[in-house]
Amino acid sequence: MDPPARPEPPHPPGAVPLRALKPDVALQLLQQSGHPGLPGEPMSDAWLQALVDALVDLSSRDALTGLANRRSFELALAREIDRVARSGEPALLLTLDIDHFKKVNDTHGHAAGDVVIQAVARALAETVRPMDLVARVGGEEFSIVLPNCPAAFGTQVAERIRQRVARAPVAIAPGESVSVTVSVGGAFAPQWVRTTARIWMDRADLQLYRAKSEGRNRCCLEPTAVPLVSAEEKGLLFASSSFQDFA
Ligand code: GH3
Ligand code: MG
Ligand code: MG
Repeated sequence: MDPPARPEPPHPPGAVPLRALKPDVALQLLQQSGHPGLPGEPMSDAWLQALVDALVDLSSRDALTGLANRRSFELALAREIDRVARSGEPALLLTLDIDHFKKVNDTHGHAAGDVVIQAVARALAETVRPMDLVARVGGEEFSIVLPNCPAAFGTQVAERIRQRVARAPVAIAPGESVSVTVSVGGAFAPQWVRTTARIWMDRADLQLYRAKSEGRNRCCLEPTAVPLVSAEEKGLLFASSSFQDFA
């Protein structure tokens, strides 16, 4: 008689139990995503590790632009909140939305719209520092977290990004290009106080709505680097982790 099957060891929520990993299925997924292939002998330890690394990378990136996706951005934001609460270093969150993007789709078609989204993604990635994280968080919406960004530089950085997008029309077909602008909202994380990713994103979104309602193609940042601390943030003063708002 066969011995009873050993129970699956407990694993953290969301993690894949190793026994459930099917290399052939995983490899197919990678190939479909355009992955160039894994180094080493198939099924060797190094090959399996490269497979897992490539899967993690695939799950954290947006397929259209190659930027971080919303899920990995929210995790990065939570890590940045921990850092700001420990170090007191200022950090800026920018949220951007392409202006009148529906018109691009309606006039030039969805494929041209995709080209515009990719061009804006490249412009953003080229304009920030290597330590900043740019993500596509929605259809034509992007967010950027800028660690160690003093208040005095916030508006300058946001303006530089806005101007970079506005000054380079996007080629959507041979001999055809469209002008694109973005509206930008920004908010600093409250220093020495633990906020939540949700509150921080809401603050930046509020500024984005302001930029839209004031005419678009502009940047609006929260007026102060030390915003009023909300009741929820006061409650988090002694909390151990800021991941809880996404739990
Ligand atoms: P606003 O200035 O107020 O932002 O106007 P808008 O036209 O950009 O309005 P809105 O943000 O509501 O429109 C977003 C549009 O983006 C609607 C949707 O069809 C389109 N969209 C969302 N995701 C994609 C995508 O992946 N590719 C393309 N081509 N279009 C997308
Ligand atoms: Mg939008
Ligand atoms: Mg828009």
